[in-house]
Amino acid sequence: MTIKTVWCCSRCGGTNVEQVIHVWQNPNTEEIGDDAGGWDGESYCNDCCDDVMLEPDEREVEEPDPHPHTVTIAWGSESYRAADDEALDPYPYRFATKAELDAFMLGCHEAYGWMGFEVTEDSRNG
Ligand SMILES: [Zn+2]
Repeated sequence: MTIKTVWCCSRCGGTNVEQVIHVWQNPNTEEIGDDAGGWDGESYCNDCCDDVMLEPDEREVEEPDPHPHTVTIAWGSESYRAADDEALDPYPYRFATKAELDAFMLGCHEAYGWMGFEVTEDSRNG
């Protein structure tokens, strides 16, 4: 849990609110400029269905899991794990995106059955 400033409706205390902001945007590229913090002063509560003032409130909020995509793998063959008391416990792997997890699993399947590997080319190394 993290303490965070949450903006609330001054009338009902709810957080289902919106405010009008202005930004500098390049009309050709739709890129938002660096000075994007302007506030035009209008706020609206979707619960009160009316213009309201917003008030800051310090609240405990639960941060989203940065690595919600998980897989747990028991390495080695089933017979090896059953026969060897020192076999590794299943190990959890956590990823930020499904694409990362998919790539990891592809690598596991590609490596299946080989006793080792050597990298002969890697685009990350230039
Ligand atoms: Zn409200």
